[in-house]
Amino acid sequence: MVGRLRAAMTELFGLSDGWEVVLGNGGSTGFWDAAAFSLIERRTQHLTFGEFSEKFSAVTASAPHLDDPVVITAPYGSHPVPAAADPAEVDVYALTHNETSTGVAMPLTQPQLDPCRQGVPPALVMVDATSAAGAMTWDPRDVDCYYFAPQKAFAADGGLFIALCSPAAIERIERIDASGRYKPATLDLAIAARNSRQDQTYNTPALATILLTLETAEWMLDGGGLGWAASRSAASSGAVYGWAAERDFAAPFVADEAMRSPVVCTIDFEGASADDIAAALRANDIIDTEGYRKLGRNQLRIAAFPAIDPADAEALTACIDYIVERL
Ligand SMILES: *Cc1c(COP(=O)(O)O)cnc(C)c1O
Repeated sequence: MVGRLRAAMTELFGLSDGWEVVLGNGGSTGFWDAAAFSLIERRTQHLTFGEFSEKFSAVTASAPHLDDPVVITAPYGSHPVPAAADPAEVDVYALTHNETSTGVAMPLTQPQLDPCRQGVPPALVMVDATSAAGAMTWDPRDVDCYYFAPQKAFAADGGLFIALCSPAAIERIERIDASGRYKPATLDLAIAARNSRQDQTYNTPALATILLTLETAEWMLDGGGLGWAASRSAASSGAVYGWAAERDFAAPFVADEAMRSPVVCTIDFEGASADDIAAALRANDIIDTEGYRKLGRNQLRIAAFPAIDPADAEALTACIDYIVERL
């Protein structure tokens, strides 16, 4: 099952020779800790613009063996842009493809490196793709480590991390391993990579999670691949954003259309309580439309993952219209 999953991921994401699919227990949050031990040499640059990107920056800030990270933030509802850093100062750029808490997506581009830094290996681009993987296209040439857990766009269960690693990322993992720096075994990506190469995991995973992830990945491949899966998300989110723009009681939270997530739609309400709408939906078995509490807005957050039928997203907007008329 691990072997089939690794092959499906390689095909789905169009990974070239030398890339490796590394997996293990712990989900994306566990992978942050693993990266702090196994992938980050000294200092990261984080782009923070919501709950998840902030959590990862807190991991590296508190790791005693790492230098304080460089943190570039943007107000919720937008995203920052990476600033090219001296590779002697920053060895990992930590990006987030889709900030699930705010519904902001960002393009993945390699920060322009200073060409005079010869002999210093460039910083790795590490991307938290937990809610984007399988729902947004990207180019592996811009990324070194694209990691996620499969409970979002892959419609599976949680607890597993899947990390797509470029040859440079593998080289980094092996270099840190050879340095002898302390790593707990369950957070040791060199151990995870060695096991993954043998189609194993270091300790026992939940087989159901692997099975469900594989089913979705193979369904995406049968449908036409990553572009096809992403087009389903785009159709669903497009229906939700388009509907919100037409209603005077609703508006997309993310003002800049280019930053709007195609996977997670955050919709502000005016003149109607989003909590009441979510409660009425929930009472009718339409669940998990509640907003993200910490944002503190009168907002619904609507998933547009590939496994969701775009017709269901449209039906949801009709349900919300019905409720708002009657509130
Ligand atoms: C859900 C999510 C996480 C956390 O995933 P776990 O598997 O629960 O650790 C991290 N980053 C992003 C962007 C997420 O959406």
